[in-house]
Parts: sequence; structure tokens; C-alpha cells
Amino acid sequence: MLSLALALSSALTFPQQTNIYLDVIGDNNDDKDWAFFAPHENENVANDYVAKKIVEKGGVFVVLRQHGDRLVTLEIDDKEIVIDPNRMFTKVGRISSITKLNPTLAKQSLLLNKAEKRAEQLSEFVLETLSGKTPPKTFVAMHNNSNGYMGDGKKGIGNVSIERYQTKLASGAQYLIDVASGTYDEDDLYFVTDKTDFSSMKTNGWNAVLQNPNVAHDPNEDDGSLSVYAEMKGYRYINVEAERVTDGFGEDHLATQKKMVDFTFSLLEQADSK
Ligand SMILES: [Zn+2]
Repeated sequence: MLSLALALSSALTFPQQTNIYLDVIGDNNDDKDWAFFAPHENENVANDYVAKKIVEKGGVFVVLRQHGDRLVTLEIDDKEIVIDPNRMFTKVGRISSITKLNPTLAKQSLLLNKAEKRAEQLSEFVLETLSGKTPPKTFVAMHNNSNGYMGDGKKGIGNVSIERYQTKLASGAQYLIDVASGTYDEDDLYFVTDKTDFSSMKTNGWNAVLQNPNVAHDPNEDDGSLSVYAEMKGYRYINVEAERVTDGFGEDHLATQKKMVDFTFSLLEQADSK
């Protein structure tokens, strides 16, 4: 069955590599000040719902697509080089993601440079599509994660959980400055740059993490993610994370992620009417 998101979308092909494309739902040039983005193609639990809401409320929703996987494969000089599409928004992040995921490239500087350049072009392609003629104030990222987290003593996998963020904060991690632990599953959480958004989420019982604004200036914290890029460029950023089934483990938290999208819209529309 054709998904709703697909039925409503138009596809924009990445000129430098035509097997990469963006599904675009809505209008990046309307008067709405938000743009939604789904960078990881296998994290799509609430995509149809977001598409529906965008059609109803305006703005744009961009889904990065290639072959259905989390990572994007760059094809350069007959070689396949993978990159995490949420690590491509700064040069430091691109180089670090590419060398980490393709260890042999560390010794092939020409190929590494070409891959970094291609990834930069892809990040610009995404940012231009999110922005339209006038960039929005807010980027909303849609992500899904696995049940629990690796090393939680409960056979959890992955690395996203509000419990893990609490541990990180307590142990002095520099990329976050506050964590609110609400009444929802540990894997259903917001990761945000705006203090007011964080407070509203906390007041309403959500799990939420507030990024440390210092990530914009601290090279050690520059991972090339959209949240760091947003902090550098002054965008408001809201990441809507919820659990999904991974290798038969865990469950899709669609109902919760829908509620999280609704709550996000309530914050966006508040700001919009000010
Ligand atoms: Zn993700």
C-alpha cells in the first residue's frame, strides 16, 4: 500500500547522486516558521502522521531517502562510503563520521576529501529544501530509537534513553545542561535547544533534554548533527524521539510519538501567534 506520506509528497533528486532523494510534503515557502526533517530512513514510525499534520497545518516535512537504511551510501570513484546523515551538517562532523564508519579512508585523503565534499553538498541540499526562500525559525527532527540502551542491565540496545541522558548529565557530559524525566517510557523523549520549550515539556510531564548552548563554540562537542548546527546558526531545534521495533525487540510507540508531534505543534503555533 502506498503510504500517505508518499502519496502527498513530491520527490527531489540529489543532483550529485541520483539514487539519493528527498520526499517533500507541504510547502517550504508558505508563511509557517517550521520545517520537519527525518534524516534516518529506517526511523519512520510517525512519518505518515507528520505528513498529515503538515498538510493540515502548513510548513514542510522533508524525508531523506536512498535504500531504506539509517546510513546514506555515497558513491565516489566506484567506492561506497557511508555517512550518518545526522552527522553531515559541519565539516568536523562529516570528517569524523566518515572516518569512523569507513576506517580505511583515514589513509586515503583524496577519497576522504571527495566524500566530505559530497556530504557537504547533501547537507546543503537538505538545508535549502528545509528553508525555501526564507529559512524557518524552527527545525523539528523526527527520530526513533531502540528499547532501553546498551549496558542498562536490562538487555537494552542503542544509546538513546532519558535514563542514559540523566547518567550522562550526572557524569559531567558537556553537550547537555538539563534533563527532565517525566511519566513516559525512557525512550520517548525530546531533545531541544530552547529553554522555554524544555520548561513547557517538563511542566507537561514529558521526558526532555536541553542541549548546552556551548556546543556551538566547543570543537569537542561538534558532531555535525542538526542540533549542533541549529545551535551554531541560531535556529530553534526540537527532536521528537520515540521507541521503535529493532530486530524484533521493543515496540513502535506510535501513539506516544503522535502525542509528542501534537504537543510540538502546540509550541510552534504559540510562537507563531506571538
Ligand atoms: Zn535517528
